[in-house]
Amino acid sequence: MKRFVEGSERMQGTLFPDHLEDFVGEDNAVRVIDAFIDALDLVDLGFEGAVPATTGRPGYHPAVLLKIYVYGYLNRIHSSRRLETEAGRNVELMWLTGRLAPDFKTIADFRRDNGKAIRGVCRQFVMLCRQIGLLGDVVVAIDGSKFKAVNNRDKNFTPAKMQRRMAELNAGIDRYLAEMDAADLAEPASTMKVARLQDRIALLRAQMAELRSIEAQMQQSPDAQVSLTDPDARSMNSRGSGIVGYNVQAAVDADHHLIVAHEVVTTGSDRAQLAGMAQQARAAIGGDEITVVADRGYFSGRQILACEDAQIAAYVPKPLTSSARAAGRFDRRDFIYDADRDCYRCPAGEDLVHRCTATEGAMKIRRYWTRVCGTCVLKTQCTPGTERRVSRWEHEAVLDRMEQRLNARPEMMQIRRQTVEHVFGTLKAWMGSTHFLTRTLNKVAAEMNLHVLAYNLKRVIKIIGIRPLMTAIRAS
Ligand code: SF4
Repeated sequence: MKRFVEGSERMQGTLFPDHLEDFVGEDNAVRVIDAFIDALDLVDLGFEGAVPATTGRPGYHPAVLLKIYVYGYLNRIHSSRRLETEAGRNVELMWLTGRLAPDFKTIADFRRDNGKAIRGVCRQFVMLCRQIGLLGDVVVAIDGSKFKAVNNRDKNFTPAKMQRRMAELNAGIDRYLAEMDAADLAEPASTMKVARLQDRIALLRAQMAELRSIEAQMQQSPDAQVSLTDPDARSMNSRGSGIVGYNVQAAVDADHHLIVAHEVVTTGSDRAQLAGMAQQARAAIGGDEITVVADRGYFSGRQILACEDAQIAAYVPKPLTSSARAAGRFDRRDFIYDADRDCYRCPAGEDLVHRCTATEGAMKIRRYWTRVCGTCVLKTQCTPGTERRVSRWEHEAVLDRMEQRLNARPEMMQIRRQTVEHVFGTLKAWMGSTHFLTRTLNKVAAEMNLHVLAYNLKRVIKIIGIRPLMTAIRAS
């Protein structure tokens, strides 16, 4: 064929053979992976096999397997079987591993057995970002997102789901029994039909026995849930529908959008996560002062108090869930607290004074009211009861201070959205439509560590470039 760009003949020999080095350019990201992992102290990080055994067949050095995984996650190849294939045909991986091509089981076992050490690698990269000066900003946005587990929804049981399934099975058994009675009365009686119905009833009863055994397991479970495929996966709400998966928490710095801390948890709610994530983020950034911003899902008095005690400035808006406002009556925001006099001023201008203190859970709640509500002209807009009572947590001043901070910096919510939401979008796009590939919390956490490391690597390469990053790694 003429007038086309022509390739080489397959049998063409070369006078000077090509080296692997010739195929990997100076600006190839694979060089960053190589330099970063070679600079790590894998023994210190706790990698299994980092110190070779004195007897037996030599194993692969953990650096080789770690390089394969980091390369894989950076290039959206997460499966150990695909990584085995790539190690045998991908020139970049050949360069990275020195043409070693471990089998998929060795690759998968490495990820399974080194979850904690891989988390350490993730932290080391955040420390490197700190040394480079990328984590100077002290504003961190915290958010959570639900990621699907291997567990199918039909293999997850909650008390409500169990009740529904049992009711369906019982209804099925009743229907078949009624059909059997009808078949018995029919002339002539159909023995074939009766036998078929008996088989179906036996099947439904076997399913019922299976459900009862799962119900017994469910009663032993602290959160009354059982997942059959991945025992740690939990049914959670995600954007209006339910998924069976894990809740991934991330703290992202507002300046360069790097994930400075992350955690995989099995509770669907974010309410108990703020203080822990904020402290992890501060430890990673290494500064004394830090500002954290999160959405309404994180609003929890105790968590915000824990942040203030740890000298972390939190910005979390209050959830708008007032039933009084929904019913067209005054809500808490219409009652102004006077700290000097320790009383509330109501919309009618009356003082609601402190009258009693109750304990709810571990929280002390102070109650305020006035005795003139019965004669108030605004009563129908205020309360359907005898008098309007306002409750105040003993540490409510912490929440008041946070509200003042939020009012002074309304842009914080915009910063939160810009900082953290796209991070989860990016991670999920890289994962594709699939779920986590491994089961149980520890292994899933190891998978997430690799995702986060790959994300941060890509970000830093984009921000400062490959050569400056290599220089920083060598200088660290
Ligand atoms: S009903 Fe009571 S609390 Fe409400 S506005 Fe009137 S006086 Fe104030």
